[in-house]
Amino acid sequence: MVKFEKIFELSALRRYYRVGDELVHALAGVDLTISDREFIAVIGSSGSGKSTLMHMLGFMDSPTSGKMLFEGRDVSAIDREERSRLRATSIGFVFQAFNLLPKLTVLDNVVLPLTYSRKPVKNKSELAIKALERVGMEHRASHTPSQLSGGERQRVAIARSLINEPRLILADEPTGNLDRKNRMSIMDLFTSLMDEGITLVLVTHDDEVATYAKRRILMQDGIVIEDSTK
Ligand code: ADP
Ligand code: MG
Repeated sequence: MVKFEKIFELSALRRYYRVGDELVHALAGVDLTISDREFIAVIGSSGSGKSTLMHMLGFMDSPTSGKMLFEGRDVSAIDREERSRLRATSIGFVFQAFNLLPKLTVLDNVVLPLTYSRKPVKNKSELAIKALERVGMEHRASHTPSQLSGGERQRVAIARSLINEPRLILADEPTGNLDRKNRMSIMDLFTSLMDEGITLVLVTHDDEVATYAKRRILMQDGIVIEDSTK
């Protein structure tokens, strides 16, 4: 399979929401290229459009106008079914609230995305253990999420995001619910995943977290007002 150097190319991307009589410009014309193996922090005050941008990149929402290419293909020309397949196989998601299912074991939480990707997989548990090893949580495979600390839960959520071997991870405030020690340890983990070749786009409020990224994108009122690379 050809691996495109540019994962995403967005041009004049807009997303408006109608709320009563008002039109909210959540994204008001974003031009952005995301290339292979980048580590990007998206920063900006609350309401600046960071999560809306992440939803676009995760094919969870469609733009009102503008163009979005994924691996060189116009996303608007990709049908719904293939978009969900792409989402399941190419992109991993990490959320602030971890979003683990409380009744399932750690192992079963990590296995879950394999079910959606519909790739035939022989030994799901073995793959899940491998993903847990990458985040240092294999010793907690048979625990349930409530038996883990916040930092451990986020590690498990990251293992879950890795199970389909995505090239891109989208993380929206992944350290937002963690204390400083755990924030730093999750960022060290992300940094080591970068070394394994993963591309990471991470939304954060925290300046210290943002310093881990090589590129920082500052959003304000639905546009990118600063884009700097270290
Ligand atoms: P951020 O993640 O930077 O805090 P968001 O992308 O969540 O910002 O939101 C950007 C703007 O769009 C905000 O003004 C928000 O209120 C609005 N918005 C987001 N989602 C919706 C929605 N589903 N319906 C209406 N307005 C929305
Ligand atoms: Mg947000």
